[in-house]
Amino acid sequence: MKTHNKSQSKSKVPEEGILPEIIRENYRGSEKLLDKKAIISGGDSGIGQAVAVHFAREGADVAIIYKESDDDAEETKKLVEKEGRKCILLKGDLSKKDFQKKCIQKVKKDWGSLDILVNNAGIQFPKDDIENITDVQIYQTFNTNIISMISFTRDCLQLMKSGSRIICTTSVTAYRGSDHLIDYSSTKGAIATFVRSLATNIAGKNILVNGVAPGPIWTPLVKETFDDVSDFGKDNPMKRAGQPSEVAPAYVFLASQDSSFITGEIIHINGGDYVGG
Ligand code: NAD
Repeated sequence: MKTHNKSQSKSKVPEEGILPEIIRENYRGSEKLLDKKAIISGGDSGIGQAVAVHFAREGADVAIIYKESDDDAEETKKLVEKEGRKCILLKGDLSKKDFQKKCIQKVKKDWGSLDILVNNAGIQFPKDDIENITDVQIYQTFNTNIISMISFTRDCLQLMKSGSRIICTTSVTAYRGSDHLIDYSSTKGAIATFVRSLATNIAGKNILVNGVAPGPIWTPLVKETFDDVSDFGKDNPMKRAGQPSEVAPAYVFLASQDSSFITGEIIHINGGDYVGG
């Protein structure tokens, strides 16, 4: 039977023998986000879960948005509370307007304002042939990954002020394309452009907008969407997939005072895959 330590995801394992690491045992927080309030979409699992735990270790309270897995959400809440911070759970479909409104109302009521918005929820349905991509899949992927991101961000802005941060998860596939994730990688390209466009639009308000473009990272999304993961992450210069614990510190940087003169940028965390963007 598998054993799990506190930094490993309990509920889902991407591959036998390789457990996702949420946070390094030796990661020391230094109050970079002390008393900040953050919304993290997709915060129950994978990269979002790691971001939630890192933010908490840096002193932030978090509200995590997730679609269905109560077990993962409860596990994340426990990990956040273990860091001495609060965790609000918001369960629902972010592509639905009513749920978006509910999230904003709850945060407004509990916190009154918002310092950090992490737009990280995403879905993908690999298809080797474009003929097999249905209209339903295209709409679902775009609605979840980018359309809801734009409208949710727009509505969250009422809670944000000078110094607030917006961080969006895009992907290496936005830059190099993906022959089997055509619709998904297109949404990720749109996210990169959204980051650059919104950043210039609200730079004058000193609300900074940046992105993170992960390469292959061991998360539940990977195992759930690919039949064969034996070669996952082997085609970059470091010849391995990354861990959520290797991605989340970039979100800490972009959420903290350390990145106060950076906006409209994307940090690439992909094992050395040069994508020139
Ligand atoms: P994950 O499956 O662990 O997390 C995805 C999260 O999105 C889940 O928490 C789920 O609840 C949430 N979600 C999905 N649809 C939703 C909806 N309609 N409403 C609310 N929440 C919804 O996967 P992950 O790998 O951690 O992915 C996080 C982000 O990172 C995604 O945007 C993904 O595209 C991106 N990404 C992942 C990789 C990778 O290799 N894992 C690489 C590049 C980019």
